Amino acid sequence: MQNKLFLYNSLSRKKEEFIPLNFPFVGMYVCGPTVYGDAHLGHARPAITFDLLFRYFKHLNYKVRYVRNITDVGHLENDADQGEDKIGKKARLEKLEPMEVVQYFSDRYHVEMNKLNVLTPSIEPRASGHIIEQIEMTKKILEAGYAYEINGSVYFDVEKYNKKYNYGKLSGRVLEDLIANTRELDGQSEKRSSFDFALWKKASPEHIMKWPSPWSLGFPGWHLECSAMGHKYLGEKFDIHGGGMDLLFPHHECEIAQNTVAVGENSVKYWIHNNMITINGQKMGKSLGNFITLDDLFNGTNKVLEKDYTPMTIRFFILQAHYRSTLDFSNEALQAAEKGLTRLMKGVSTLNKIKPSANGTFNPAELKKNCYDAMNDDMNSPIVIAHLFDALKTINAIDAGTENIDEKNLEILKDIYNTFLFDILGLKNDNQVTGNNEILKDVVDMVLNLRLQAKANKDYATSDYIRNELTKIGITVKDKKDGFEWEL
Ligand code: ZN
Repeated sequence: MQNKLFLYNSLSRKKEEFIPLNFPFVGMYVCGPTVYGDAHLGHARPAITFDLLFRYFKHLNYKVRYVRNITDVGHLENDADQGEDKIGKKARLEKLEPMEVVQYFSDRYHVEMNKLNVLTPSIEPRASGHIIEQIEMTKKILEAGYAYEINGSVYFDVEKYNKKYNYGKLSGRVLEDLIANTRELDGQSEKRSSFDFALWKKASPEHIMKWPSPWSLGFPGWHLECSAMGHKYLGEKFDIHGGGMDLLFPHHECEIAQNTVAVGENSVKYWIHNNMITINGQKMGKSLGNFITLDDLFNGTNKVLEKDYTPMTIRFFILQAHYRSTLDFSNEALQAAEKGLTRLMKGVSTLNKIKPSANGTFNPAELKKNCYDAMNDDMNSPIVIAHLFDALKTINAIDAGTENIDEKNLEILKDIYNTFLFDILGLKNDNQVTGNNEILKDVVDMVLNLRLQAKANKDYATSDYIRNELTKIGITVKDKKDGFEWEL
């Protein structure tokens, strides 16, 4: 049977056996998007990584509560305590209500996630809907003595915290080194130390989104929302907190500090982070001119792109790398992923056509074990995919009659592909026609039967016309002695 699941914990910096705090329940919190622009390639990776984990937990029959927040307030430019709110700025420039911006980009984010076959989380809370919880948490931190109020704003006292607890335990950074290597840019900051971070900020008169609090008319600091919403929906201690590696410091480091003071412990058993995507070896960024939205990818509308790529190609491309490895985007890599996925889907189509033999020789038990072993080894999706590729040779051999399989093992083999390729990796037949898209299959078959009739009537003009038109839309027709074969 299945082995134990091991996951890499960023906090202990090693793979640890996953044992839920409250079996069979699993609580998982993942930092979601700040919704002030279209979802891009950088959003796809954490969404797919934690979707893979969500799907695997469900497959293992855990009862998962997956919380992925939407940041709609408090995320200032450059992630610092200075600057304009990202959503507020967009609203000001476009002359919209901030919540119009939030609604528009949240809806678009959901459409893209749906295309990527990312399952909807159990709860998708918004920061602006949890102002009271954030004020309460700020009060607790103030009462504990690890925050100070100045001019209507409240800041977390990192130096005081570091003396008792260890600020930097997640990122491995040392506060003294951080301070020594930092120069305060403007010298105007009201904070006692540059690494102190805002729990509550007093709003300037032109700031749009603001709420009353004991300290000022203002808004919560960005790091606070995830601590507050995590506790609200998953309890004071929960299993998994995840996000992209770019959030590890300072966002998650600050969350640990807040939780430790407000709740008395770091709150999270396993911290899990996915690595970043680079584009032709470079970090993706608007200023670098290589910024690619998911919409661009699906439509091919970006000068970096040679063509459009289906959502499943993007999903497959991401899953072909281990989530903790860097992943470099290039047209070549995406086209290779596209070919690979087509081969796998064709293999499934062949598998579904295979007829069992009375005395089969092939036993898929080892393939099944290999796939579970790979998933249990810190969600090693590229190894799962490699095993599924390997078995295609056997599937083709059975199809060609040089290998055979009995009925029971054929069902097991089909189940392995259904389970791992579709349920766990979450892939599906995009627009490849391999038996799943029945309507298209029927229509093309009908058109090609008309062509056979035309040929029988020596109407070669019509016959050639049909074949040429099908070729134009990407359908290759092969004439056979007893009819035809075609593929997309
Ligand atoms: Zn967060």
